[in-house]
Amino acid sequence: MTDSDQGPIFWFLTGSQDLYGEETLRQVEEQSRQVVARLDGAGDLPAHVEWRPVLTSSDAIRRACLEATAADGCAGVIVWMHTFSPAKAWIAGLSALQKPLLHLHTQVNRSLPWSSIDMDFMNLNQAAHGDRELGYLETRIGVRRKTVVGHAGDPAVRRRVDEWMRAALGARAARSLRMARFGDNMRDVAVTDGDKVEVQLRLGVAVRTYGVNDLVAAVGTASAPEVDALVADYAERYELAPELAAGAARHESLREAARIEAGLRNFLDDGGFRAFTTNFEDLGGLRQLPGISVQRLMYDGYGFGAEGDWKTSLLLRVMKVMGEGAPGGTSFMEDYTYHLGPGEPKILGAHMLEVCPSIAAATPRAEVHPLSIGGREDPVRLVFDAAAGPAIVVGLIDLGDRLRLVCNDIEVVPPDEPLPHLPVARAVWKPAPSLAVSAECWLGAGGPHHTVLSSQVSLEALADLAEIIGVELVHIGASADPGRLRQELRWSDAYYRLFPGTGR
Ligand code: MN
Repeated sequence: MTDSDQGPIFWFLTGSQDLYGEETLRQVEEQSRQVVARLDGAGDLPAHVEWRPVLTSSDAIRRACLEATAADGCAGVIVWMHTFSPAKAWIAGLSALQKPLLHLHTQVNRSLPWSSIDMDFMNLNQAAHGDRELGYLETRIGVRRKTVVGHAGDPAVRRRVDEWMRAALGARAARSLRMARFGDNMRDVAVTDGDKVEVQLRLGVAVRTYGVNDLVAAVGTASAPEVDALVADYAERYELAPELAAGAARHESLREAARIEAGLRNFLDDGGFRAFTTNFEDLGGLRQLPGISVQRLMYDGYGFGAEGDWKTSLLLRVMKVMGEGAPGGTSFMEDYTYHLGPGEPKILGAHMLEVCPSIAAATPRAEVHPLSIGGREDPVRLVFDAAAGPAIVVGLIDLGDRLRLVCNDIEVVPPDEPLPHLPVARAVWKPAPSLAVSAECWLGAGGPHHTVLSSQVSLEALADLAEIIGVELVHIGASADPGRLRQELRWSDAYYRLFPGTGR
């Protein structure tokens, strides 16, 4: 079996040195296998950890790092200096490593054997200073990494490893991501535009533009059985508005929506695209603005950005991969309008149609309504309220000399009152620390109006992603302060001018 057959894995590299002799190195191997078994054994991490032979020489370390870099199946490397591994032996390897790095600062024993500890035990269990030796070198080289401290059986340690793995898997997904854009950006919009060459260089995402009529052609070749199967799936998964049901007045609108979905899926899958954009200004021969189809594709893990927003589309795809298997949901989102009072101010987020049902509180309802924008037939869409609970909203902007992620902690809440006349899916949330401070910080940081809302991806995983891909992260949380943020952004500007393109 090749490594690509078994899905991504993480390599566990253990450092030591020959000085200890064969017997001690045998114990090092045995104990590092135990640490891997503890990490991997519970099966609750998003990917497997693979034990690799203990490294004791500069040459072996360099080869291991080059092999990890070359192995498509290796999503990242976890290193641990079980004993003292003089770090000059790691210079060539760490300089060559091109995979996400986690430095796990651990030891096999949780407790000191107070009554029995002797010099042999002390000499065998030396990570306390062996890892400090490596930490110095990592800092000296400027290796981007995450450092996690503690026993491998500790749930808090496992959770932090889990978050980093998700980030590494997200970065890996970006490296192979191909995106199809149907049409260009919405005319004259600034924030959704940017440098696609720079993004491909930094993140690996390949963005391709197609004429919307290429999609129209795919819709035209969707077969009747494909459309039938989708219509049946709609009826099974969602509550259908009575007028959309088979035999009812507007059933043909539902079939047209299904035809668009079949064409869109075929186009994306035939081209190996896992993300896409649409633009209501450029619908060519499409009879409806894609609504329910986009919502369902997001649910299946595709990235999406409206109005040609390819940066939000790639961010959504990456965050879908990061959140896989975790409870909650992840969706394209837009800050739409405010409730400034009475009561605590809130944001109503939505889009014209395209919100992912993974964040729905209850069974979505398929409905058809006119859309004043786009000038086509009434599009079918799924309507729902987002599930309440903690989440984040994240935006990605291009500042010309670098990319910036802006993230706000939010609490999704039920709407104060029902919204019977709002014919789109929506989320109502309280941004931390308050709408006024959050929005002042967000605007100050140049955050976009399109975002990804996620209750699956944590701030820690997002911060790990930013570290891995070398992109600035601005976080707006409970302690946000607009004045302090303004200062920090100025320092950050200076930093990125010292280290252009990517941080170190
Ligand atoms: Mn929009």
